Amino acid sequence: MKAEIISIGTELLLGEIIDTNSAYLASQLPLLGVDLHFISTVGDNQQRLVDTLRQAWQRSDLIITTGGLGPTQDDITREAIAQFLEENITIDQSLVQKFQELFSHYKIAMPPSNIKQAAVIPSAEIIHNPRGTAPGWWIERDARIIITMPGPPREMQLMWTKEILPRLQNRITRAVIISKTLKTFGLTEAEVDEQVSRFLSAQNPTLATYAKSNGIYLRITAKASAHAEAQKLVLERETQIRAILNDYIWGSDLDTLENIVGDLLAAKGLTLATMEAGTGGYLSNIITNVPGSSKYFKGGLVAYTDEAREIFGFHSQVIHQYGLISSEAAKLMAKVAKEKLNTSIGIGVTAIVGPTEIEGKPVGTIFIGIDDGQHSQCFAKNYPGNRSQVKQRAVTSALFELRKILLGGTSCT
Ligand code: AMP
Ligand code: MG
Repeated sequence: MKAEIISIGTELLLGEIIDTNSAYLASQLPLLGVDLHFISTVGDNQQRLVDTLRQAWQRSDLIITTGGLGPTQDDITREAIAQFLEENITIDQSLVQKFQELFSHYKIAMPPSNIKQAAVIPSAEIIHNPRGTAPGWWIERDARIIITMPGPPREMQLMWTKEILPRLQNRITRAVIISKTLKTFGLTEAEVDEQVSRFLSAQNPTLATYAKSNGIYLRITAKASAHAEAQKLVLERETQIRAILNDYIWGSDLDTLENIVGDLLAAKGLTLATMEAGTGGYLSNIITNVPGSSKYFKGGLVAYTDEAREIFGFHSQVIHQYGLISSEAAKLMAKVAKEKLNTSIGIGVTAIVGPTEIEGKPVGTIFIGIDDGQHSQCFAKNYPGNRSQVKQRAVTSALFELRKILLGGTSCT
């Protein structure tokens, strides 16, 4: 099977956005045994896109497009495909209703322009978008396949892994392979392996564990002749694993801790501030990786030295009495951050990142304080490693514990 990718968007041609969608898809296609022969980029221009589709149609069996599925005037991918295939666009009323329900869930009126995203043509099957309103299209005609996916990389990647990849696999191997990754934090790889050892030797679904910088991941992979059957196998195994590791599982697939925590804070209308000693602002760096994080994250104090701590109003008495690497210091840092930045929640992180011990405590000692105005809690951890590993684990611990608190879990004080 010969494949071709068309990425759509004028911003790509202006060099404002790098075409990471094509790179992602290019790395996925070899796993399917599909040969990628061309990648093209087209601006938001209907006629030039029609011309590009015509060229692709002549030389490729599989054409994958990303971008141009938004609600605005310049999003012309659907219109261009309809024009090229000489098919009429109609509006799928069940999709319109779904959008309306989605918008009313967020208590906002649906902009009329969104109706455009419910467009269909006779040869297109609608592909569900698990992370947005723009659905994809799967088109089969004249022994060719056109797959149309949205531009935002997170939406595109989730649609690819959840919806497109299984269908393509089925097309190519007549079998469906589905994977789901569960992400844990707080156990070593050996501990995770031991707890799920009885599933590690199973053939279908298979289970693999691997260590990542923010925890241990478990990938469940099932193979079946139909999509629903493979999905059922994955779900059954996921349920069994969750029953064992539930307290440690913080997300799945493309989830990141900072996104999960951000969504929870935004949903609850809470705000957050941080104060860090040792991690040098790494926690606030990670939190601000999330677009729109300024809605809930007010800022972070990097309290790297005694002088900085004094200026921030963190009084050295606590350090004299308990030490900087202590639960009392972490809690006070959380309180100071919360009060200085006037937020609902403050987090304090104090950690020994190395190379030498401090206050008689070893490298890798971490204290996390979380203050929500009613409770001030502290979590003590120890993750030996090099500087960047200790920083990473301190920050992951902070987000992991905050997630639990936001979900209403109990805490160890
Ligand atoms: P669109 O679906 O064309 O409205 O795209 C929405 C957004 O997705 C764009 O503003 C970009 O930020 C992003 N995007 C679109 N195409 C790509 C691509 N090929 N690679 C990376 N990001 C993209
Ligand atoms: Mg666009």
